[in-house]
Amino acid sequence: MRSYSDFYRRSVDDSEAFWAEQARLIDWQTPPEQILDASRPPFARWFVGGTTNLCHNAIDRHLDARGDQPALICVSTETGLERSYSFRELHAEVQRTAASLLALGVKRGDRVLIYMPMIAEATFAMLACARIGAVHCVVFGGFASGSLASRIEDAEPTVIVSADAGSRGGKVLAYKPLLDEAIRLSKHKPAAVLLADRGLAAMDLVAGRDHLMRDLATQHRDALVPCAWLESTEISYTIYTSGTTGKPKGVQRDTGGYAVALAASMPHIFDARAGETYFCTSDIGWVVGHSYIVYGPLIAGMATILYEGLPTQGLDRQPDGGIWWQLVEKYKVTVMFSAPTAVRVLKKQDPALLKKYDLSSLRALFLAGEPLDEPTGRWIGEGLGVPIIDNYWQTESGWPIITIANGVEKKPGKLGSPGVPMYGWRVKILDESTGEELTTPNEKGVVVIEGPTPPGFMQTIWRDDARFVNTYWKTVPGKMVYSTFDWGIRDADGYFFILGRTDDVINVAGHRLGTREIEEAISGHGNVAEVAVVGVADALKGQVAVAFVVPRNADGVDGAGALALEGQIMQRVAEQLGALARPARVHFVTGLPKTRSGKLLRRAIQAVCEGRDAGDLTTIDDPATLQRIRQLLRP
Ligand code: AMP
Repeated sequence: MRSYSDFYRRSVDDSEAFWAEQARLIDWQTPPEQILDASRPPFARWFVGGTTNLCHNAIDRHLDARGDQPALICVSTETGLERSYSFRELHAEVQRTAASLLALGVKRGDRVLIYMPMIAEATFAMLACARIGAVHCVVFGGFASGSLASRIEDAEPTVIVSADAGSRGGKVLAYKPLLDEAIRLSKHKPAAVLLADRGLAAMDLVAGRDHLMRDLATQHRDALVPCAWLESTEISYTIYTSGTTGKPKGVQRDTGGYAVALAASMPHIFDARAGETYFCTSDIGWVVGHSYIVYGPLIAGMATILYEGLPTQGLDRQPDGGIWWQLVEKYKVTVMFSAPTAVRVLKKQDPALLKKYDLSSLRALFLAGEPLDEPTGRWIGEGLGVPIIDNYWQTESGWPIITIANGVEKKPGKLGSPGVPMYGWRVKILDESTGEELTTPNEKGVVVIEGPTPPGFMQTIWRDDARFVNTYWKTVPGKMVYSTFDWGIRDADGYFFILGRTDDVINVAGHRLGTREIEEAISGHGNVAEVAVVGVADALKGQVAVAFVVPRNADGVDGAGALALEGQIMQRVAEQLGALARPARVHFVTGLPKTRSGKLLRRAIQAVCEGRDAGDLTTIDDPATLQRIRQLLRP
């Protein structure tokens, strides 16, 4: 076995030679002329002059060796549908969808917004975009009209691909009315809407605009759509994520760098091999879904499981809460990827379920998206008897920044730590106010990344280079480094520990939300004068959103009145942003703690909510506001 520290050193000391080698893991139509162009920091352009295609690498290049092996395995315990597509079948389906998009006028570089549940058609649409060089923008199906509208406006898609409905725990959620409302709200209107009809909810089709996927796929049944050879630096997709302002950021990714980063991560990090099955329980609406449900496993020649349903006992089709393990047994899953919240949900069930199925194929379970608490890590590790590998990354990074490179060296993990910096990532801990690097073990600072950033990292914010530079690269005094906006420490052995966000972003069940977005939705209510939303620690979801509202008209905002207003506010957030953003509680107050310059002291409120010391309050304008919140929360 190789030494990981040598592997890592080479990736940063001789990074062009290192990545030139990794680039051989994918097919290029034209090989790159220059491995890295870092002449305009902080922008890094990888594999310049090379041309390639993500869809070719995910499907076409496997046709000769494994055309009849499974590529996409779709399982829905919501509808009872279970279907496996071989690489050859996937190839045909993707070409049908690609031909449909072309027929609707989509051209190379055009955006296609995908708002879909976890069904095969969502994957066909993503791969079809990649095939023809269209930029896909997948929006998580749990978002409601308001969030969707702002994303449509920003992406300006030519076509939107959606479906009649999603389903969760047997509850049908109609997507089409949400989409129609979002299109109505958006200044930009798509030329066409392509819809998968699952027969779950009736749809009113808009004549001339709306088309059924099934009809177009039939028309293009035998379509042969060649892959467009894209420049390595051409955009493959954008994915929206939350920041400190209410306006979501379109994280933009390239083609060649992303393909190489994923191809390299499969053997090095996941120790995964062609012909095996990968099961990632995320959603295609998140970056983890893009990288490790769709592209990563397929690029590696693996079958990937797309699972729609809850992990727990629910419908008749899920007689017990062992559905994940049942799938591991049935499809001989070797690598599994999930999130701590999902495991915490499972923890409430009978532990015997972990022993009920044959899990001998499974080599490791990777968890990401939020801090992995030690009891959860220990519980699942002991239950499954395989290594549990925490990995730390972000929508911006595209693939793990800190974890254990299991395929390079099986270094032991440490509970509570995601591990060590991955090859290509120059991770440092800096003092927030001086910008000095903290080299003494266990000193807390901001986790930053020094450029040039490795392949797969975001190129920029869609149509906003200035925002990319100003948001991420100019926060530490005197240094141009990428801020992760996470606090962290490194111990004496070089293992990192992530200690939470430095900004106003919260993490609810692994979903990243900006408190500003929630505040904006709430402040639109007629009886809200001011609002502060903070993330508060929660045993199950990691964090939940809690809102503090100053009503415009305080009369009647006690007892039943308060309950009614709380209900209206919660409903408003669910309608505009989606249920996952709905605050767990709304408290009514007469004033909010602010600095003398008027800046909301969210962190002080959060500390009070969590029973911690509120820190330095010398800048607070009216200390009584915080005192009243403290009294309000007293049991
Ligand atoms: P997202 O962009 O939605 O993936 O959210 C990224 C954020 O989630 C990071 O900046 C961290 O705050 C948090 N995060 C992701 N993975 C981990 C992890 N393994 N441990 C601790 N925090 C994590």
